[in-house]
Amino acid sequence: MSETITLKIDGREITVPQGTTILDAAAQLGIEIPVICYHPHLTANGLCRVCSVDVGWRVQAAACVTQCANGMNVETHSEDVCRGRRTILEMLAATVELAEAPEILALLQEYEADESRFAAGERRTAPIHDDNPFYIRDYNQCINCWRCVQVCAEDAQYTFALSFDGRGFHTQIGTFMNKGMTDTTCVFCGQCVGVCPTGALKPKRQLLLEQGWDPDSIFEATRRKRKKT
Ligand code: SF4
Repeated sequence: MSETITLKIDGREITVPQGTTILDAAAQLGIEIPVICYHPHLTANGLCRVCSVDVGWRVQAAACVTQCANGMNVETHSEDVCRGRRTILEMLAATVELAEAPEILALLQEYEADESRFAAGERRTAPIHDDNPFYIRDYNQCINCWRCVQVCAEDAQYTFALSFDGRGFHTQIGTFMNKGMTDTTCVFCGQCVGVCPTGALKPKRQLLLEQGWDPDSIFEATRRKRKKT
């Protein structure tokens, strides 16, 4: 029999199997902890920290990667926790274009984030990569959540076409040696587009529709061209 863990989350006791994350234990109690980089079908990395909760440690813990421990007393929505989330969201809004990230925009509202708080801060900018007929990559909208890299790698596709590029503040997602997508191992499965929460990865056909192209022209521009024999 597997060992169980008993803890309190927002004052409510729960017993869960060893290895359960705080995020999953809270969900069993009906307590919703906000997430951004987390995706239920991908490996959690605790990158965005918006799911951070107070477990009585010196620093808050990311609920998506922190396992429950016996006697733990978790606060998921204390004043400190909510202030931390608000600041994370305000920094994201100051740095990245979020107009096509509805879940993050909803969190900005829920946590009453002031999008102008860090208005003087530097924005992350990048050229838009339009290098294949299937999807575009606009890293001006990328929050480095790592979902596209995970799904392209061990979590699903085992293609490894994407990785981190650059350092520090200028870190962004890229390809090996910055090659265009058609020169990488990409098989254009579309899984990265499917898990992107911000619109940074977008189907080319959707983009052209938004730009007012008619369906026939879109089909012609994006269809697979067969070689003449
Ligand atoms: S491109 Fe999308 S999925 Fe990939 S890291 Fe950026 S926001 Fe996340």
